[in-house]
Amino acid sequence: MPITDALGIDEQRLPVVDAHTHTCGSDHDGPPQDVVACLDGCGVDKAFMFAPLLRPQGWELAVEHLDDVRRNNDYIAHFCSYAPERLIAFAVLNPNPAIAGGDKRRAVELMIEEAERCYHELGIRGIKMVPDRWTPEDEEALPLLEALARLGVYVVFHCGIFMDGRSSSFCRPTFYEGIHRVDGFHGHLAHLGWPWVDELVALLMMESYHREPNPDDPWQLKADFSFGPPPDWRVESLLKALDSLAPDQLIYGSDAWWPQTPEQYAKHSLVPHLTAFEAAADLSRQGGGDDPERRARLRTGVFHGNVMSHWAKATRGVPQNLKPADSAPQTGNTWRGH
Ligand SMILES: [Zn+2]
Repeated sequence: MPITDALGIDEQRLPVVDAHTHTCGSDHDGPPQDVVACLDGCGVDKAFMFAPLLRPQGWELAVEHLDDVRRNNDYIAHFCSYAPERLIAFAVLNPNPAIAGGDKRRAVELMIEEAERCYHELGIRGIKMVPDRWTPEDEEALPLLEALARLGVYVVFHCGIFMDGRSSSFCRPTFYEGIHRVDGFHGHLAHLGWPWVDELVALLMMESYHREPNPDDPWQLKADFSFGPPPDWRVESLLKALDSLAPDQLIYGSDAWWPQTPEQYAKHSLVPHLTAFEAAADLSRQGGGDDPERRARLRTGVFHGNVMSHWAKATRGVPQNLKPADSAPQTGNTWRGH
């Protein structure tokens, strides 16, 4: 029985896209068939699949890790080519100056080259980035942001405190004001920016002021509510987002790390996020009140439509075109989740 039936909210099946999941590397994730089986088992239509993040911390990176960035991006293109309708590949870019021997501008040039390679040679349309030793406010980073908008990719940024001890101070919501300089840029910030939820909500509210209003394409940035917030803050954080953001700015993402069985994914990802959403929507002035159809529209937007419409604008309708490699690419120096 689908989980949404068990919660009594599914007269018609709730379409679900998980806009935030992580792979960990070639010797760890298991085959893509298992990911698709997990999605099938939990009634999830598509998942954003991030290439493995680098294991070395930002302050440990060196020129040699540039090869790992490329190998890990090769890997995610190959992995997702198994089921391109279901698995949306996201390359990881890392314009950390250390990757170019401390040269900020050169690091950005290298990442523009890698973005173009990912787009044209690997057929990838999504990019994941974790600012560390750089921020989107840096003048040096601007050419990369412009290149991503020009290519037509969807960009997910980490936003908020890391729960596993890595540097977070480059990931504060306010640094993403730098995105507002780049017309045509589309993407989202993760985790509601916890613990800087107020700052994230303020940033996203400013989206409607920073340029000429365009009712057909109003947002550069949306936000996923992947936890993120520890249990005590989940409903409170979501309530702030639901009350103050536009209803189409909030996106479901789980921050699940593969591999996962359907039981694990349901227990740790889909059900907690769905129940937190319902609890917050019950309290929210935008939750639909006693009108179940309004609630259903909100829910379907958050779990499916809000990210898919944003994806279509980011990519201008150009589908990913992933080609399997002749042999499965091996990853290097990957981070193994929380
Ligand atoms: Zn994550």
